[in-house]
Amino acid sequence: MDFLHSQLGALQRNLAFVATDAIPWKLYVQAFSWTVALFESYLILRQYPLYSKTEPPAALASFFSKDEFLKSQNYGKDKAKFSLFSGLYKQCIDSALLQLGFYAWSWTAAGKVTSWFGYGPDYEITQSLIFAFLLFFISSIPSLPLSVYSTFVLEEKHGFNKTTPAVFVTDLLKGWAIGIVLGAPFLALFLYIFEWAGDRFVPWLMGLMISFQMIMVILYPTVIQPLFNKLSPLAEGDLRTRIEALAGKLKFPLKHLYEIDGSKRSSHSNAYFFGLPWSKHIVIFDTLIQQSKPEEVEAVLAHELGHWYFLHPTKMLAISQLHTFAVLATFPAFMHAPPVLRAFDFPKAVAAQPPTIVAFLLFQMILTPVEAVVSICLNAVSRHFEWQADRFACELQDQLQDPSMQDMGDRLGRALVTLHVKNLSTVWVDWLYSAYHHSHPTLTERLKAMETFQAAREKKAL
Ligand SMILES: [Zn+2]
Repeated sequence: MDFLHSQLGALQRNLAFVATDAIPWKLYVQAFSWTVALFESYLILRQYPLYSKTEPPAALASFFSKDEFLKSQNYGKDKAKFSLFSGLYKQCIDSALLQLGFYAWSWTAAGKVTSWFGYGPDYEITQSLIFAFLLFFISSIPSLPLSVYSTFVLEEKHGFNKTTPAVFVTDLLKGWAIGIVLGAPFLALFLYIFEWAGDRFVPWLMGLMISFQMIMVILYPTVIQPLFNKLSPLAEGDLRTRIEALAGKLKFPLKHLYEIDGSKRSSHSNAYFFGLPWSKHIVIFDTLIQQSKPEEVEAVLAHELGHWYFLHPTKMLAISQLHTFAVLATFPAFMHAPPVLRAFDFPKAVAAQPPTIVAFLLFQMILTPVEAVVSICLNAVSRHFEWQADRFACELQDQLQDPSMQDMGDRLGRALVTLHVKNLSTVWVDWLYSAYHHSHPTLTERLKAMETFQAAREKKAL
């Protein structure tokens, strides 16, 4: 532990200028966030002309009817226009809030609320909770009309929306309630650790974050997800038998097999698994079951079990812990830095002794360029995992010595195409747009890669 703290101390000495120099942080955050927003708009403009193509790529031509293809192109066009507008709209709001000193105002307002309840400025955690609530609440208002439009106009127009206004409002309220019920104690504990451990908070906070994630792994499926969707055991039949057999052969610790009523809100569809290492749950969307044949759904599950086989979720978790650690290790340099708060319009009295939550929030904003790069790298890793899981499904026949699985690759291909066609997903994708935004390779890339896996297999077998 002492080695860790001496290394962290060395890092802090290198960053000591943050606490002393007057750097125009606000200007820097503005400039960077506008660069990102404009770059994202540029990507949409690169992608946009592809929605005017009248024919699908050759590899997919046989799967699409003319009508389905044009439908997906129109959906893509509408979504692109919407995201161009909403991206710039959100950026204007965020930029204005930042410029007008909204964060400093919220802190003062939270202080007034705490003193109204009879607590002084010593009650930093109480004031921080009110501050977080104000930020969360006020900043979510401008995006409300966007999500109403997206659900009830855009998705509705293309036949995806199954949400009623009543479901929309209750979902929103449930989301807020969960945010408060889970977020407030977590935030309080987070801030308490800073108070208690001082500058030696890094290992303690890492511990807290990991335990919180573990608790969510248990709470999400058992408590949170049932609030929004209905999970029911998958009915006995061909599909259930196939999945249980597949799980058995791979020694996947399948505890429960569920069907989820994803179609209550939207017709977008998929399947996933979750749970603790020794007890896993598989969830399949009812829409996937309705749209694809049992042997195709089985292939989708073979892909999902590929993620499990190669420990992809664990690896992702490890990468995210490393990332959290790097962020926390850098934070102390910004913790006691009055010039940073002054740069964001905080009054001198507040800046002199920066509240932890404020320092952390500003630190996060300053960090956005780094986070943008991290997210591109994470996409690259995730694409690699998808490719690996597809390959796993294609080669399952060799691994399990089961000739009945020799067409697994074809079945997966058919299921992916069906998902794509039914979801009206875009088939023509600009490479730069995809590399920046997508955690999955495009459909054409995946089908092509699967053909290559199959060819390599057959060559090896000869
Ligand atoms: Zn996958």
